[in-house]
Amino acid sequence: MEKQDKLFNRITENALGFLRDAIELINSDLKKSLISFAIAVELFLKARLMHEHWTLILENPDNTTVSEFEKGDFISVNVQSAILRLQKVLGLSISTSAEKAFKNIRTHRNKMIHFYHPEYADAKNPKATEVVMKDQYVGWVHLHELLSEEWEKEFINHQESIKDIDRLMKGHRDFIDARYETLKDSISDEIAKGMKFGVCAVCQKLSSRMSDLSLPVYTGVCRVCGDWDVFVEAICSSCSYIGYYDWSSSDRDCSSCTKDVQIEIPDDAMEVLISHYGDDPFMNDGIDYNGHCPECEHSLTTAIPAGDGGAFCLNCATEYDEMGQCEHCGTYIAGFTEVASSYLGCFICSASFPDANEKY
Ligand SMILES: [Zn+2]
Ligand SMILES: [Zn+2]
Ligand SMILES: [Zn+2]
Ligand SMILES: [Zn+2]
Repeated sequence: MEKQDKLFNRITENALGFLRDAIELINSDLKKSLISFAIAVELFLKARLMHEHWTLILENPDNTTVSEFEKGDFISVNVQSAILRLQKVLGLSISTSAEKAFKNIRTHRNKMIHFYHPEYADAKNPKATEVVMKDQYVGWVHLHELLSEEWEKEFINHQESIKDIDRLMKGHRDFIDARYETLKDSISDEIAKGMKFGVCAVCQKLSSRMSDLSLPVYTGVCRVCGDWDVFVEAICSSCSYIGYYDWSSSDRDCSSCTKDVQIEIPDDAMEVLISHYGDDPFMNDGIDYNGHCPECEHSLTTAIPAGDGGAFCLNCATEYDEMGQCEHCGTYIAGFTEVASSYLGCFICSASFPDANEKY
């Protein structure tokens, strides 16, 4: 549809407008700020779906014609389905942390719309303002990462506006910094008592309190902003420094000597990481969209879908632009091009297909 670009731009501009409203109203009309922010998140997710194809934002694509769509005469998907379609249909990665952040914003908005919340009705209620500030900031950091990095190509004509919004979020950022200052001593106390803390991906401060999940894997909840993350404990082989690494990032340099940290993760802990970061086969009729990594050849499906049809290996942090399916065994392999794989197989199945090369 020729008008698709126009509609994409309109939805995006609308989303940006709602964000500006949300930021402007945070101190004067908390309720409107909260609702505007939730609408903005929803519109950005829909815009990204729309960029692929307009039918993807329809709740029921079979019952809507192009002309109905152009008139706005249709029912669109909700946030949860939008996220699911971005993940399943487009193969994009939206981290669990981002999903949780968007859901938080959505939940508050629903409570606001459906029930009367006196604490939000009073714009000067500091406790309510604090909660909304925190949620919006976390939501924005995740949204900003998607819009300016992962989806930069699709939102390329809107990057200036996105930068402007990031500047406008200064008030929120100052609030987070101030909150960290008030919590700093109590965090130090907890560290002194033996609690483990990692650097929060949102605040960039040593404020994420960790609890073990399956050693050396920890979950962290930030005491400042509430963001939820996964960390892996590792000892640097060069300087013996014990560090905690945010596993969604490919940055695995030792915080002490900056050398590359090589980390051995036991299989049961790796399974925890895959189930957290990767695709969930139970949601896909048992189809496992996680793949194998040819770089480290880990026996588990450590290559999780990431970016635009690409993959990221949770074991060796290799990033791939593509992920293909072996035509012989059906396994997903990162960086795989399918040429002749129905004869040659892949590194997973070639062992069970020993005379593959003799066919050529
Ligand atoms: Zn934080
Ligand atoms: Zn080191
Ligand atoms: Zn690997
Ligand atoms: Zn194969």
